[in-house]
Amino acid sequence: MDNRIINIFANEDSYSQDIRKLLRRKLQQSGFTVPKQFTPDAELIVSIGGDGALLRNLHKYGFPPIPFLGINTGHLGFFQEIHPDELDEFIFMYKQGRYNIQNLKTVQATVEEKEKQYEYQGLNEIIIKGDRSATVHLNISIGNSFIERFSGDGILVCTPAGSTAYNYSLGGSIVDPRLSILQITPIAPMNTTAYRSFTSSVVLPKELMVTIHPEHREGSGFMIVADGMEHKHSDIRQITLGFSQTEVRLMRFEHYDFWTKVKTKFL
Ligand code: NAP
Ligand code: MN
Repeated sequence: MDNRIINIFANEDSYSQDIRKLLRRKLQQSGFTVPKQFTPDAELIVSIGGDGALLRNLHKYGFPPIPFLGINTGHLGFFQEIHPDELDEFIFMYKQGRYNIQNLKTVQATVEEKEKQYEYQGLNEIIIKGDRSATVHLNISIGNSFIERFSGDGILVCTPAGSTAYNYSLGGSIVDPRLSILQITPIAPMNTTAYRSFTSSVVLPKELMVTIHPEHREGSGFMIVADGMEHKHSDIRQITLGFSQTEVRLMRFEHYDFWTKVKTKFL
């Protein structure tokens, strides 16, 4: 066997760490190399924890094109494919190439300040909200058309993969990840004679960009949250959001079915 490298990352809790050591030993016995540090020429990244751990590893290593396998020691485990007691089955199936890769779309945002520009990426979603409890006012355009002056807590732009996360708690729709769309979901939109905002999600094709011009209020800034990771900004001129070419590759085994997963995790 050539030098086949597999990276393993695990949550800090002792259970996840025990699974990491056990899997490392089993993979080494099967002839794989398991380095302690991230190696870009690895053929697989195993993430032991919950969805949050997978999202953090993805961001930490810059959305690498290497497939991810999630082993669930977290609470929900929507991205996770196997249980810690399935390590032998995983290695057996993996060596035979009996798996599929699920390609998941991502969302990207460009935040323009006066002097500087920042890029963010999300597998689940990117959120724009205030950095305090005050409402935000966002002028939102879709494509070249001005759509609304949104007032409320903020807005969330999610991928199909992220539709089952925060988006779902906000009343957004669950979207099959085989579709290439983005969903914009309002967070506590205000609808009064003073302020008018859409109260439901809107769904966009992958070609359309969303442009946001936030209104600045004295002493308050904005928070851009990508997959739960917060980035504070005070002087935003414009935010552009859209579908990204970068895909995340998740390992799935033969029994995987998106709607079965939704049912078993939610109902
Ligand atoms: P967290 O607060 O621990 O996550 C909240 C829950 O969302 C966890 O149970 C997590 O699963 C689950 N989750 C994450 N991605 C999911 C997906 N694509 N489909 C279904 N459930 C998913 O924070 P975290 O673990 O770092 O995850 C970050 C995500 O939390 C954000 O991207 C956002 O979508 C979500 N979030 C949700 C709410 C809400 O529903 N009110 C509020 C803030 C953030 P695990 O238990 O396996 O980690
Ligand atoms: Mn979590």
